[in-house]
Amino acid sequence: MHLWFSAQRAKRETVFMSQVRETPVVPLEAGAGPENPPCPACGEPLFGWIDARPGLAGPVKRCESCGLGMIGAPGTGEEALTELDRLRDGETLRIPNRGGFSAWFGGAGWAGLEPGRHYLFTTEAVRRLVAQRDQVVTTARWSPGAAIAAMWQTVLNGFTFGRNVALAKLGRAAGVPAQRPWQRRLDAAITVIVAIPALLVALPLELTAAAFGRASVVSLQLELL
Ligand SMILES: [Zn+2]
Repeated sequence: MHLWFSAQRAKRETVFMSQVRETPVVPLEAGAGPENPPCPACGEPLFGWIDARPGLAGPVKRCESCGLGMIGAPGTGEEALTELDRLRDGETLRIPNRGGFSAWFGGAGWAGLEPGRHYLFTTEAVRRLVAQRDQVVTTARWSPGAAIAAMWQTVLNGFTFGRNVALAKLGRAAGVPAQRPWQRRLDAAITVIVAIPALLVALPLELTAAAFGRASVVSLQLELL
């Protein structure tokens, strides 16, 4: 009996080992090519995320490794750092987090997809980028006010023709108004009607996201090595 069990176990292990051997392991680098330019932060190939749409400079690609998003033409680490520095608020960098929950569920309706943006950062992408100029990220914290506003706007974007209508009106983000005047009028009315219900949805969503390290907006402190 003992021998029979041993034989069965050996058979199972053989099957398992052959499955392991047969599973092809494809490195991310294998996906590199003209369609998949290298990530300016970590060098891994970028893959398609969102198709081109009004207000964006082109289709959006993302890095599967560090999470950086890139809109339109391929860029360099230097360009990404220049854009990152524009997000500086005093000593802190405040980034809409492409690795956040709102970016994941919002997709094309994510509030962080603002016109004029070329790069969409994550904490890990910033870590890799600033290392190129001998800096380190010392702290990464949830930025509650901006994060709740971004989640709220992402939820609202699901109801409107244009994007970021509310935050643009409040002067807190760049928006993409709807193309036709009647759509813009409807968007203004919808925003007012849905504002409170959307906030009631956004608030617990963002609190949960932040608790799981997937905040919509993150404040980062940098230090020179
Ligand atoms: Zn990357």
